[in-house]
Amino acid sequence: KTVDNGRVSTNLTPAGWNHLYSGKVRDLFEPASPSTDVAGAGDAMLLVASDRVSAYDYVLSPGIPGKGEVLTRLSLWWFDNLDVPNHLVASHAPGEAGHAALPAEVADRAMLVKKLDMFPVEAVVRGYLTGSGWKEYQQNGTVCGIPLADGLQNGDRLPEPIYTPAWKAPMGEHDENISFERTVELIGGDDAAAVRDLALSIYTKAAAIAEAKGLILADTKFEFGRDPDSGDIALADEVLTPDSSRYWDAQAWTTGETPDQRMASFDKQIVRDWLTQIWDMTGTPPELPADIIERTSHRYRELLERMTR
Ligand code: ATP
Ligand code: MG
Repeated sequence: KTVDNGRVSTNLTPAGWNHLYSGKVRDLFEPASPSTDVAGAGDAMLLVASDRVSAYDYVLSPGIPGKGEVLTRLSLWWFDNLDVPNHLVASHAPGEAGHAALPAEVADRAMLVKKLDMFPVEAVVRGYLTGSGWKEYQQNGTVCGIPLADGLQNGDRLPEPIYTPAWKAPMGEHDENISFERTVELIGGDDAAAVRDLALSIYTKAAAIAEAKGLILADTKFEFGRDPDSGDIALADEVLTPDSSRYWDAQAWTTGETPDQRMASFDKQIVRDWLTQIWDMTGTPPELPADIIERTSHRYRELLERMTR
């Protein structure tokens, strides 16, 4: 079966698995037969990160070589280094059950996870002012409705990290920034508070780990779900990858003079900048040129090396 989401095919459904869903970047599979023993996990899913790249919710073509592997390896590294319940069904270290259960053809880009009841909330945390936050701040002095002090510049560190949730729109629709109160309406007060507190504490811990490696974690997005068996909330999806986060070089941030120099990104900012320069966001997005692909691919790999070495 060919998984063709938008314009980049991954063309793989591993033997023993059925295609369940394809998002912009990841393809999800479930065991073809319920009796398949998947590392002893109840309701397991295979989460395969493709090389597809999306910007402003458009899937672009062609993909970024090695990107799916970088996203997966970095997520696994963070799950290992964060002391938070997560959706992995077993350790994915070579030789362990999680790793052994991965189909060979996707082994370096796949995670074996427990299927959770996902909260329709993207738990965004921002420690620095940039992107859409910077735009809103220039207009209203706020970020997602949260008032901030006057006089901040693009790329500045915020006095403290802020939680700016978004509603996870169904496939094809754009995610929408919402207030904390709205998340209470969506998922209830207890879970809304738990998700917010987890997101802020994971961000704070991760930012300190990144900083020790000379990297600034400017902002990030987490997704959480509830384990249907235990009832516990677990960290799901990808975590702290360059797709879900903005990473900058700490040295450049300290010494850089222009915003571009300060925010030397290890993510798809190269793609975003190129796209907004040459395209008016109507019709079909243009093909990514070879030099943009190569620079982006290189930045993704560099981040993985710096973070995990
Ligand atoms: P969309 O869901 O709008 O397509 P997306 O483009 O971000 O979003 P991907 O990131 O490519 O989608 O696909 C991953 C999908 O898997 C997301 O919908 C995410 O919420 C979901 N997901 C991640 N972990 C789990 C889990 N443990 N259980 C159930 N769903 C999960
Ligand atoms: Mg996603």
